[in-house]
Amino acid sequence: MSSRSDHDVVVVGAGVAGAATAIHLAARGHRTVLIHRAGGADGIESIAPAAVDELSGLGLQLDGPGVALTAWWGTNEPRTIYEPRARLVSRLDLARRLRELAASLGTEMIEDVRHASVSRAGGAFDVMTSGGGTDHQLVVRSVVDATGRAASVARRLGAQRYQADELFSAVVDVVTAADGVWTEATSPGWWSLCGLAGRGTLAFHGNLAEVRAAATDLGARVRETRLGAQVEDLIGAVVVRASGSELCLPSAGPGWVAVGDAAMSVQPLASAGNAKALRDAARVFEAFNRPAAFSARQNGEFHRYLDTLARQYREGGRRRTA
Ligand SMILES: Cc1cc2nc3c(=O)[nH]c(=O)nc-3n(C[C@H](O)[C@H](O)[C@H](O)COP(=O)(O)OP(=O)(O)OC[C@H]3O[C@@H](n4cnc5c(N)ncnc54)[C@H](O)[C@@H]3O)c2cc1C
Repeated sequence: MSSRSDHDVVVVGAGVAGAATAIHLAARGHRTVLIHRAGGADGIESIAPAAVDELSGLGLQLDGPGVALTAWWGTNEPRTIYEPRARLVSRLDLARRLRELAASLGTEMIEDVRHASVSRAGGAFDVMTSGGGTDHQLVVRSVVDATGRAASVARRLGAQRYQADELFSAVVDVVTAADGVWTEATSPGWWSLCGLAGRGTLAFHGNLAEVRAAATDLGARVRETRLGAQVEDLIGAVVVRASGSELCLPSAGPGWVAVGDAAMSVQPLASAGNAKALRDAARVFEAFNRPAAFSARQNGEFHRYLDTLARQYREGGRRRTA
């Protein structure tokens, strides 16, 4: 067991939101520890132009061409738009590159953590981790919850998760010939495919019963869709993931902040989760200084997002929940 109190901030969770937050903290001279649990679901995801700019500001350039987005969404003919400034990435690869950048700025990493727990200790926080060969105990003034949808730190500190809808996704790696994003509204559920350099992420989205049924024969079902023409073969197992709209209230409090999916999770249809994770990371100082204003801003963004999502589903001739 190593016992330490010489850091300012612990960031729990080292996905896109946690790693980017650590970069902002370390760049401003805060002694930061980033707690990383290895593994997690990978996938090819689209990165919106604003997020590409945000990454570039952090010193991380995303190379490659723009993204062609093709949709059968309330239409029989495909609609294609080309977004020259968007990019496609592997989410785990993006998080790894951000962690490397954070480490180069002096962030200390605790790797291969199996379990992390946070509790209040007077005006500070007690953080215990196990796994990776050594257990750690850290006493710090501030904690960032970047644990994704689990939001385990925020919940431990008394926050509640508010579920605005229920959506699940059956996700699988595929072989695909072309690069781009395809979306198709079907009945039941809807489909998405992100392809990059021969590999892709295929997902069917719906309520839990629809998704469980689809997961048993995803390969056969995708052949019945129009985007199925892009899928050559499925690789590996189908994984079912929660993917609905959720808000953490509050999303910050004295000495703690939730960022990325831990603060607010958006449906894959929005293609906005990574941009949001990067935006929260950039606002971490504002959040520590004015937690109530940060929570109010998340709440406002969440309701604007729900309005946009409802419009998108109407255009596809679908209900918001699948
Ligand atoms: C099917 C699907 C498709 C999507 N497509 C897109 C897309 O095309 N574009 C887009 O922008 N967004 C997309 N998203 C959303 C995007 O993936 C997320 O919004 C984004 O990755 C959130 O990043 P995060 O760092 O907040 O959370 P996560 O990526 O979930 O990272 C959380 C990290 O914390 C770790 N962790 C959890 N608990 C602990 C603990 N106790 N101790 C230590 N570590 C812990 C986890 O292992 C993980 O590494 C999609 C989501 C889904 C489900």
